[in-house]
Parts: sequence; structure tokens; C-alpha cells
Amino acid sequence: MDCPKCGSVILKENINIQTDIAQCINCDHIFKISEHIQVVNDDFDVRDTPKGTWFQKDFDIIILGASTKSPIAFFLVPFMLVWSGGSLGGIYGSQIASGELNIGMSLFGIPFLLGSIFFWSITAMAIAGKVELKLNKQGGKIFTGIGNIGFTKTFTWDEVSTIRETTSNIRTNGRQNIKLCLEGKRRVCFGIGLKEERRYYLLKAMQTVLAKLKSNRNMNYQSF
Ligand SMILES: [Zn+2]
Repeated sequence: MDCPKCGSVILKENINIQTDIAQCINCDHIFKISEHIQVVNDDFDVRDTPKGTWFQKDFDIIILGASTKSPIAFFLVPFMLVWSGGSLGGIYGSQIASGELNIGMSLFGIPFLLGSIFFWSITAMAIAGKVELKLNKQGGKIFTGIGNIGFTKTFTWDEVSTIRETTSNIRTNGRQNIKLCLEGKRRVCFGIGLKEERRYYLLKAMQTVLAKLKSNRNMNYQSF
């Protein structure tokens, strides 16, 4: 196993399974083994994709994806049309209609404008969004967005020692959201807003890929 802090290989004599403690001789980091070893259940089949998720293998690339489409769109679209249309139409529409710029009104409208952009992007994700991971031997890219529009986070496998679910600071209706995080030398999180079943699929599939990688150092694509 590798040190979760600096990535050095942990020597056998510095691992104590009974006390669940290991120490890195390179950086002196002491950690609980159980928190950094991924137990993977072999029954999990990455090809057995639940509704709204997908798995694809193309030469040396594995694609794992999950849709963020949600019935909440049926509520969000009319709500946003009224809220955003009403506030922005009232603030900016009236200025455009009269052809006169009102600085005070325009400044007053900025929070509504930013709020609209934010909530419309959530609405658009609920209509047609996806989270897609493209994995190769070196690492991967995590895309969040619609079609080709969105943002991409990248990582390399040597930066990752575990993949787990964590609660996000972003709350929706007072409920904490859950996201997926790759952790190790760096922390890369994604997947906020995914339905539980789809998020769970991505979590298990990523853990399976990681475990296979770590166990034979060369990515064994034949095993998928
Ligand atoms: Zn270390």
C-alpha cells in the first residue's frame, strides 16, 4: 500500500493490522489502514448498469457515465420561467423597452442575474445533464455538463488511494448533498445531484477499476 499523504510505498514492518495503524517512513504520517484500503466486493459487475448509467470500453479507454436527468425538471422549468423571467424581465426588460439605462436598477438586478445563471444551470442539468468519466492507464477525466458544454476535472491514478462518498457543504432544501471523492495526494470530487442508485454505480465501478489497477500495476483491461 502507498502513503495517503506522500504516495511512498509503506514497508511491511510499518503496518500493524491488529491495531489498524500504519506509518510512512518517508513523511512520518500515521494513519488508520481501514480508512485507506478499499475493500472491493468481487460480485460487483461494472457491465451491469442500472437505469441512467452506462459503461463502455473503447480500446484503452473505459467510459463510465451517469445521467443527472431528473423529474424535478418538471417543477424547475416553470418555476424558473416565472422567477427568472419575472425578476429579470421587470428589471432589465423595462429598461430595454424604454431604451433608458437605469444604473441603480441594473445594479439591483445583478444578484438576480447571477442567481438565474446558477439555477438555470441546475435546471439544465436536470433536463439533459450527465457526469461522465473517461479512464485510461494514466488517469482520467471527469466531465460534468450537457453535451460538450460543461467542465472537466482531471486526475492521475497515482494521486488516488481511495474513492468514497462524502457529504457536500452545498445544501439543497436543507438537506446535505452527497458527492463522490477521489482521495489521496489530491482530492477530486464530483457527482453532486446524482440519484442515489446512479451515484452508487459510479462509486462501485470506480472502486473496482482502482482495485484492479492497484493490484496489478498495469491496467488489465481484459478483466472488464
Ligand atoms: Zn508519506
